Amino acid sequence: MKKNILRQCKGCRNIKNREEMVKITLFNNSLFINPNSKIMGRSIYVCKNEECIKNLIKTKGIKRGLKFNDGEIIKETEEKLKNFLILP
Ligand SMILES: [Zn+2]
Repeated sequence: MKKNILRQCKGCRNIKNREEMVKITLFNNSLFINPNSKIMGRSIYVCKNEECIKNLIKTKGIKRGLKFNDGEIIKETEEKLKNFLILP
């Protein structure tokens, strides 16, 4: 059985099972969408739904949650997150 690891969504602030969320990790001054937790580093989580991802973007959750200031990389990552929703 998988362990229930709970994390807070930066979009809706609800606490959920990590399995239901997208992990974004700061590593080597770059950002990674990190579904398997293979990359270690400061991370934030967001639910895999449009509302939470939009809210994360609107509230600058990546910048604030990871204390990361590279607007270009944040924008790229936000685009990747939006694409993540389209994937099966
Ligand atoms: Zn959420």
